[in-house]
Amino acid sequence: MSNEPLRGSSVLISGASVAGPALAFWLHRYGASVTVVEMAPALRSGGQIVDLRGVGREVVRGMGLLEQMRAARTPTDGLRLVDERNRSRAFVPVEGFRGDGPIAEIEIGRGALSEIIYDAAADDVEYLFGDRIARLDDSGEGVVVHFEQREPRRFDVVIGADGLHSATRGKLFGPEQPFLRHLGSYVAWWTVDNDLQLRYVAHLYGEPGRSLVLRSTERNTRALAAFTFNERPLNYDYRDTELTKNIVRSRIAGMGWEASRVAAQIEETPDFYFDSFSQVVLGSWSKGRVGLVGDAAYCASPLSGHGATISLVGAYVLAGELARHAGDVSAGLASYERVLRPWLASVQELGRDEGAKMMTPESALGVAARTRLVHLFEHLPARLRPFMVRPQIRVSNGFVLPDYSALGPIPA
Ligand SMILES: Cc1cc2nc3c(=O)[nH]c(=O)nc-3n(C[C@H](O)[C@H](O)[C@H](O)COP(=O)(O)OP(=O)(O)OC[C@H]3O[C@@H](n4cnc5c(N)ncnc54)[C@H](O)[C@@H]3O)c2cc1C
Repeated sequence: MSNEPLRGSSVLISGASVAGPALAFWLHRYGASVTVVEMAPALRSGGQIVDLRGVGREVVRGMGLLEQMRAARTPTDGLRLVDERNRSRAFVPVEGFRGDGPIAEIEIGRGALSEIIYDAAADDVEYLFGDRIARLDDSGEGVVVHFEQREPRRFDVVIGADGLHSATRGKLFGPEQPFLRHLGSYVAWWTVDNDLQLRYVAHLYGEPGRSLVLRSTERNTRALAAFTFNERPLNYDYRDTELTKNIVRSRIAGMGWEASRVAAQIEETPDFYFDSFSQVVLGSWSKGRVGLVGDAAYCASPLSGHGATISLVGAYVLAGELARHAGDVSAGLASYERVLRPWLASVQELGRDEGAKMMTPESALGVAARTRLVHLFEHLPARLRPFMVRPQIRVSNGFVLPDYSALGPIPA
């Protein structure tokens, strides 16, 4: 295998969040000339706290970014279940799960994660902010990309890393509805005041069919609210922020604990995110010279606890397989899918299992059962705790990363 086998080939990536910049990093390492188009006017900040688990951590180590990620993480000692007067009912500590428990050892803001990966290759990658792909013409020899704002350009490969509602996927396979598997609930995240004065801890309060988590961020000066509620698929425009804020206001109304206080801050919050817990299930992750990575291809939903991990691993494998099959794009895309699919099926399963449903139990009995289970966790000797989350730890570490080190220069 030659070093930098993709030298001379051009790749366009749509989306600059987690999967996009990670893919750009690796493709540049293998010699490709990489362009990323992002619809936002600049790299997007904000978002929830994501977990770096198992093989995801190994990919970040391979990028030489693990220590930077550790330094930027949002330190959390654990998750406390509370009643409506904020009295502690049970506590899950972080330690004792080999870094991959319900709260992972490396939990980091999505914006911070994205920025670290972006910075690592920003000088070597062309970023086109404030634009999108309008049309793709794949001739078989290359793809002519028509942008909304810029002149058309030709690329050897185009990859959609544009998230759960991927427009690139829409161009390949049509409207998203048949490919989205709704998991029965919705989640909203927004930044609020740290009125409870939480210190490196998350508090969870539950009622039948809805849960609210508050956790301290920004060195305990602020807090992140995560509100989850169970509901069948809603018919709404996910781009309409005012509408989604109103949906959340109506579902959180009448809830106890801190709910009315954090709901009152929806109006003013600098960042508000709302989406369904959904998975993307596609028969194929590519067509011709156009492929998909991250949530666009195989979103497992935040309920799996592996959203960022599978985006990072997918980007690593996609770049590696394109490089390994340099000169034959369809063989590279097919191999990427063959290598990754079995593991991703197991990650998606995690997002659908009984443990995931514990996020928002449907009945008062379910809420009480969750408290009892967490109580049990708390009182287990630390050496036994990994056994309680064995299926998750097995999945987090259940993929053997292919070795592509011969394809590109080793980082300094
Ligand atoms: C600002 C932001 C906040 C988020 N907050 C949360 C959260 O609070 N909770 C949660 O569970 N998940 C959240 N997510 C999703 C989470 O980041 C992903 O589930 C996961 O990290 C996988 O990342 P990804 O790179 O595949 O997709 P995403 O992180 O979804 O990134 C997709 C990127 O593509 C861009 N994009 C979308 N459409 C186009 C287009 N047509 N042309 C060009 N660019 C496009 C988006 O602006 C975004 O930067 C958020 C994502 C973003 C971008």
